[in-house]
Amino acid sequence: MTRESAAEVVRVVSIGGIGEIGRNCTVIEYGDDAIVLDCGITFPDANMLGVDLVLPNFNYLREIRHKLRAFVITHGHEDHIGALPYALREFNLPIYGSKLTLGLVGVKLEEPGLRDQADLRVVKARETVTIGPFRCQFFDVCHSIPDAMGVAIHTPIGTIVHTGDFKIDHTPVDGVPLDIQTLGRLGDEGVLLLMSDSTYADQPGHTPSEAVIAETFDRVFNDAPGRIIVATFSSLISRVQQVVDAAYAYGRRVCFVGRSMERNVRVARDLGYLHVPDDAMEVDPRDLRDYAADDLAIICTGSQGEPRSALVRMANRDHRFIDLLPDDTVVVSASAIPGNEEAVNQTIDRLARQGASVLYERLLPVHVSGHAGQEDLKFMLTALRPKFFMPVHGEYRHLEEHRRIAERVGVDAEHVLVAESGSIVELSADDIRVVGETDVSNVYVDGLTVGEESDATLRDRRHLAEGGLVITVVNVDRHTGQCLTEPDIITRGFVYASDAEDELLARARDTVRSVVDTGDHADATPEQLQRKIRNALGRRLFRETRRRPVILPIVTEV
Ligand SMILES: [Zn+2]
Ligand SMILES: [Zn+2]
Repeated sequence: MTRESAAEVVRVVSIGGIGEIGRNCTVIEYGDDAIVLDCGITFPDANMLGVDLVLPNFNYLREIRHKLRAFVITHGHEDHIGALPYALREFNLPIYGSKLTLGLVGVKLEEPGLRDQADLRVVKARETVTIGPFRCQFFDVCHSIPDAMGVAIHTPIGTIVHTGDFKIDHTPVDGVPLDIQTLGRLGDEGVLLLMSDSTYADQPGHTPSEAVIAETFDRVFNDAPGRIIVATFSSLISRVQQVVDAAYAYGRRVCFVGRSMERNVRVARDLGYLHVPDDAMEVDPRDLRDYAADDLAIICTGSQGEPRSALVRMANRDHRFIDLLPDDTVVVSASAIPGNEEAVNQTIDRLARQGASVLYERLLPVHVSGHAGQEDLKFMLTALRPKFFMPVHGEYRHLEEHRRIAERVGVDAEHVLVAESGSIVELSADDIRVVGETDVSNVYVDGLTVGEESDATLRDRRHLAEGGLVITVVNVDRHTGQCLTEPDIITRGFVYASDAEDELLARARDTVRSVVDTGDHADATPEQLQRKIRNALGRRLFRETRRRPVILPIVTEV
């Protein structure tokens, strides 16, 4: 391949977000320049014990560090901005995004002390900024957060459109619909590659408008005898607006409760994305007791059953300012993210036990998705008529479904590429293909440490959680290789019944002793002996208990 033709490709490398929901981060690379589109996190699943966050693996960014020019951010959700505080420590690049998006980014950067050095560049929809060889043209999309944008990246070989997260809502809460005109124009000018949100590709039909929720709130506010407590995502500013509007209409005061809720509400209000019609209608959480119950609407965090959230604290009778009352109406205005269902159900049960009436998704339409359903995805594909198509932002089944949708509306089957996080995709004017892979193994944030080699640590934690811990201490005579004293065995979280445990441990001690006394390990190192003990003891304990505790032999030569 000659140098000229080698330059005529654009590399598209998603280091997260394809084949998984979360940690969206995509590199667009041409020649010696590259931009990074979104930089999000994933919340850990139930197997990742003790992990706070999962980051994209920045190895690829390190490899092309000299090419990196900017971060371009589509909207302010955690799966698009959450990793910026970590990325910025290594790659201090300008960050482009809408006003609200960068407002939320700024708040995230405050805590690690990165805000002052960050170069935040606000862009408006329909504005175009030039970053190296890329002309980035932003357009409005509807999503469950205001000020969300898609971006058309005009490159020397053609235009790449990334939708960001979107839905089609003709009556959005913030009054800003999908920019159909710009999409139509882009389609007319020609789109080389479309990368489109697949989250709801398996949902038939159109995703309902946010306006549906207003009708539900209307009923709830009309009927509720006491306080109304609405739990939702703190980033779902449009939902917060709907509660504020309903409260205003029904003459109730509002109170924002929960750290992230208070923070996001502050940013959104400062920047003009959340309107509280009358300042006097806001109540400080500390003053709640001064107001009559039917005068109040409380908006709080905890819709996912997060352990330290306001709603869960109320459910556990553990909230500083709010004790539930029998006349309270609680609305869980969100759907449980897969993996959170149990925590959500437990929270609802506990609230109901205290006499509150709890309304949630299965009972009333209290939540609609922020992602496009199948018919909406068809609209996007039809408006843009891309030559090549890559479904993004979804698990594998969503991507496959989106592929079928694209083919159904006429995209050439050969021109659809279902990639995965880590695929190095090369796009030219007449071809798209995967040319390699980059390492995208999980990077965990665990307390204050960030690291990628902790898969073994997580395995240990899982074993500890499931099987408990068994420590055996053995003193061995250096000369004879025999046990000097009876081996000692200490357990934590291993078996429940103490009678059974005594006998079991007596047999376990025999096992350890016979490994040491009968084995021929005159030349064995303590490490080799430890391994033998671990294996024999593990087999014995599994035979007797069907459990696999973590076994730690400690061998001392005397
Ligand atoms: Zn989103
Ligand atoms: Zn997203």
